[in-house]
Amino acid sequence: MRDVTGTTAAARITIGSDGVLQVPDVPIIPYVEGDGTGVDIWPAARAVLDAAAARFGRRVEWLEVLAGEKAFNETGEWLPTETIDAFRDHLIGIKGPLTTPVGGGFRSLNVAIRQLLDLYVCLRPVRWFRGVPSPVRNPEAVNMVIFRENTEDIYAGIEAEAGSPEADRIREMVREVFGRELRADSGIGIKPVSRTGSQRLQRAALNYAVARKRSRVTFVHKGNIMKFTEGAFRNWGYELVREEFADVAVGWDDCGGDAGGRILVSDTIADIALQQVLTRPAEFDVIATMNLNGDYLSDALAAQVGGIGIAPGGNINYVTGHGVFEATHGTAPKYAGQDKVNPSSVLLSGVMMFEHLGWDAAADAITSAMEETIAAGIVTYDFARLMEGATEVRCSEFAQAIIDRL
Ligand code: NAP
Repeated sequence: MRDVTGTTAAARITIGSDGVLQVPDVPIIPYVEGDGTGVDIWPAARAVLDAAAARFGRRVEWLEVLAGEKAFNETGEWLPTETIDAFRDHLIGIKGPLTTPVGGGFRSLNVAIRQLLDLYVCLRPVRWFRGVPSPVRNPEAVNMVIFRENTEDIYAGIEAEAGSPEADRIREMVREVFGRELRADSGIGIKPVSRTGSQRLQRAALNYAVARKRSRVTFVHKGNIMKFTEGAFRNWGYELVREEFADVAVGWDDCGGDAGGRILVSDTIADIALQQVLTRPAEFDVIATMNLNGDYLSDALAAQVGGIGIAPGGNINYVTGHGVFEATHGTAPKYAGQDKVNPSSVLLSGVMMFEHLGWDAAADAITSAMEETIAAGIVTYDFARLMEGATEVRCSEFAQAIIDRL
């Protein structure tokens, strides 16, 4: 819709009754700049996102919202209600890294945002960009997308401190119900894993594999040891494939490994998976896993393709349509304001966001331009120190080099 001046008016993203996002020509997208190096990486990333959108006749109306130190300094709150409301109302948002407040009433602001919006998928694509220094011999074989469950598992935060009345009561209950004695000085954590939580994550991974024409989905779990949590996750996954995806996907046991053109769904024990993603990366495509396994796996995989400065992430609820895309590294305070660090993590999170909105052409243009820039040896300090003959540039210069190649 055009306003009186002839420019297209910005509007909110909505979700249709069919669960599909309705993205207006000029969507309003809330962003949190982020603490520490957020002041460097966010403006750099935003410039690239804006330039790529403009190339394809698109525009984003950015809406700044506050969280972290900047919010605390300006409002006295670490995570103002208005920020959560803005993410809730506009469905999709993006954020830089945030300082974890010490004694601020939050375990982590990032976790709080995920919980408040029930963002049950942590989506971490892991792929290699030509020229990026890597500790492995064939980084080009790494092209995986990790769906990490974001709300359950031992991360649910139900813990009792050793010696506390809560721990004593749980020990009593364990004695009574299981006939087992726990040491009196045990801290205790509870690991809830539900069919609902597991299957909504697995459904998202399978839908993604179908939509993006991926060929394999692997459930990673430790079900050989934890049968009723991790083992159940595996079993519920195969059940879901049979009940909801039989026309497009098939479990390994139901086809003996011959999927006949459908998506092949298999499972791997977490410890073996951590070896095989290194030794046989080409066999992994989409991975669906639980919270703790997913945490280890996504960082281990990110290290194979260039590490912390480049790994993007998104936290998504595919049912409500909410999604917050984010840099996966921290605030790196020692570099704050120096225009030095690598903006790729937040920039590629923006690329994921564009893909999620259906702006694939703009997303692909950024990915190609970034690949060309790195292949030309134009990189920030973190890559320059690992590459021979590289030209080290500032954060903003790296962004400009990408814009020049769009
Ligand atoms: P960090 O900020 O991730 O920094 C650790 C190291 O990673 C840096 O010293 C730097 O390595 C490298 N690094 C980080 N960002 C980079 C970038 N953009 N480009 C290139 N290299 C980068 O971790 P931290 O120092 O442990 O944590 C600092 C604060 O961030 C804490 O308050 C923590 O709670 C918070 N945090 C927030 C998030 C989030 O918001 N998602 C995540 C993790 C931590 P070199 O020293 O080798 O150059």
